[in-house]
Amino acid sequence: MNIETLYQKYLQCNAVSTDTRKITPDSLFFALKGGNFNGNTFAADAISKGAKFAVVDEDQYALNDRYILVDNALKALQELARYHRQQLSVPIIAMTGSNGKTTTKELIQRVLAKKYSVYATQGNLNNYIGLPLTLLSIPKDTEIVVLEMGSNQIGDINELTTICEPTHGLITNIGKAHLEGFGGLEGVKQGEGELYDYFKTHSGTIFANSQNTILQEMLANRSLQAVMYPSADDFLHCQLLEFAPNVVYQDEDGEIVRTHLPGKHNFENIAAALCIGKYFGVPLPLANEAISGYISQNNRSQVLQKGSNTILLDAYNANPTSMQASLEYFAALKADHKIVILGDMAELGEESAQEHLHIGEVAGKGKFDKILLCGKLMQNAIVGAPDAYYFIDKFSLNNWLMDYKFENTHFLIKGSRSMAMETVVQFL
Ligand code: ATP
Ligand code: MG
Repeated sequence: MNIETLYQKYLQCNAVSTDTRKITPDSLFFALKGGNFNGNTFAADAISKGAKFAVVDEDQYALNDRYILVDNALKALQELARYHRQQLSVPIIAMTGSNGKTTTKELIQRVLAKKYSVYATQGNLNNYIGLPLTLLSIPKDTEIVVLEMGSNQIGDINELTTICEPTHGLITNIGKAHLEGFGGLEGVKQGEGELYDYFKTHSGTIFANSQNTILQEMLANRSLQAVMYPSADDFLHCQLLEFAPNVVYQDEDGEIVRTHLPGKHNFENIAAALCIGKYFGVPLPLANEAISGYISQNNRSQVLQKGSNTILLDAYNANPTSMQASLEYFAALKADHKIVILGDMAELGEESAQEHLHIGEVAGKGKFDKILLCGKLMQNAIVGAPDAYYFIDKFSLNNWLMDYKFENTHFLIKGSRSMAMETVVQFL
């Protein structure tokens, strides 16, 4: 099947799907394979539910001319997305980084939407399947695209940039995330740096935090220039005034802006969005309005009130860098009583025990009323936080919490996605 023929079929469809539970009429279905399933076996179901065509990669499933037989359905999806992208002439801002991608993407999208018709990655659809699906669902009237690119090993970002051919790039930061797949921090630099590598051989604009020494070193090593934020001499200047409970900043016109985003780390995300907004000519008051109106969701930096208690729910994910950022924020927060509840950080490979120990030390220095550690890996943190209470699993943690009556207490809850620490909230 040549790509132009596949593209003509795509143009006859009004959506692309890889999931028969979400098929809409006249869509194009791709039969992908996963660890435990073979999408080819769902192709007939997709057609019966209204898909116009189904792309399959095993010939016994290509029943009639509604089925498009290719060598590899995943590759076909990616090639189609790339081909489609090449037909578009809109700016594509591609972002990666260890932490804050989705938050920054949401902020950039809202800022740019004050002036343009913007399409951005939905939720966290940031991988080798989600990114092609995002490209293939860009509405016709779109003026700017914002794409989140996720990675957990070297080569991922190279693959994604090859598909989306960005015109603009942003690495939010480099931290200790997915250390197992990257084989350590140097691997993270190399892997995330593949976005910068792309701009060595393609024209385009990079946005970068001038205060982030790792990013600055990565740019210098590649002799690349960037549009910088947020210091006084940078393209975009803004000043952090307060970060707890939420960020308050002063923009370059002297306006003071209050946000719903907690912590210094969120100031970095805000500054990136302001920088990109300025670059694309969004008036500053409108950009400020977009940022001050943003309230995060999905357990990312959320603030919940439960009776007299305040819960900072940051349980969407965790790695050593984001956990340290949250703990430092919580330590600086003014409150009468503070309790931290930390769950395991996954995917750290060989550095797991050491990184959990380090997080224990950071928590131990925070002057919290109580530190509650939960999960097999968090056992390593006790060495750093000898006064902490340890629970092997959430069941035992929840049992313990149920016996307590908390009043006027601030809680910080954080852990990796696999720990789903948000379920603890009901026991507070
Ligand atoms: P994922 O890799 O899961 O897609 P992400 O990079 O998209 O994550 P977000 O979902 O925006 O990141 O944020 C996840 C958590 O990371 C937040 O709840 C917060 O604890 C932390 N975080 C956000 N921004 C930063 C930052 N700039 N530096 C460090 N930690 C951050
Ligand atoms: Mg994300």
